[in-house]
Amino acid sequence: MQASATFTARTASRLRQIGRAVVDGVLPPRCLSCGDIVDEPDALCGLCWGGITFFAPPWCVLCGLPFPHPIGEDALCGNCASERPAWDQARAVLRYDKRSRSLVLGLKHGDHTHVARAFGLWMHRAGNEVLTGADLLVPVPLHWTRLFRRRYNQAALLAHAIRAAGGPDVAADWLVRRRRTPVQGHLGPAARERNVCGAFAMRPRCSVVGKRVVIVDDVMTTGATVEECARVLRRAGAASVGVLTLARALRTGT
Ligand SMILES: [Zn+2]
Ligand SMILES: [Zn+2]
Repeated sequence: MQASATFTARTASRLRQIGRAVVDGVLPPRCLSCGDIVDEPDALCGLCWGGITFFAPPWCVLCGLPFPHPIGEDALCGNCASERPAWDQARAVLRYDKRSRSLVLGLKHGDHTHVARAFGLWMHRAGNEVLTGADLLVPVPLHWTRLFRRRYNQAALLAHAIRAAGGPDVAADWLVRRRRTPVQGHLGPAARERNVCGAFAMRPRCSVVGKRVVIVDDVMTTGATVEECARVLRRAGAASVGVLTLARALRTGT
């Protein structure tokens, strides 16, 4: 009786595997953004690809802000020149605007693992300078109440996908959000800074002393969140702090 139950369970599991393989083989790959059929998995269709701005040099050596023309290898943008950020270097894959919004927000709905895997590959490639020599990826944490409601942290998903693409280890819960901050969507730069001030802390017994860490998030808007995280990691003794995000919003006109 027991042998036959085991056999049935095994057969069912094998059939499920075969079923999944058949479905994977039969269903055509879909565009990560609009869902149209594309030639390869984890890709964008020509139309979506053409609408998205992928960052490329020449850019600010610190924050990766693209320049319209080359102005020297170590050139800084106006923001970085006037006030040095708490992190050492930041890179993003693409510009966050109305054309990329649905792609970026796809991480929060639908097939998370599928889009995260593609984003991890892109971030690993675009973040080469930041990731070289890095010891740890530190995702920007969600407050536990938000994590409970959403069930997963998209920054942690991205960090694990970067790790899977060949990046360093993930320190998933080392940085914690100790108070719940209001959603920042409608807030201006100064209000965002106030909103996240003192919001993060290191988890006890997690040491980044002497470590080269890279903060991972989905979108960098004003930079207030990663700035605050970088301050905490620096105070905790990190040797260097990089920032790697999937998308970055630029002020209009830049
Ligand atoms: Zn598309
Ligand atoms: Zn800059």
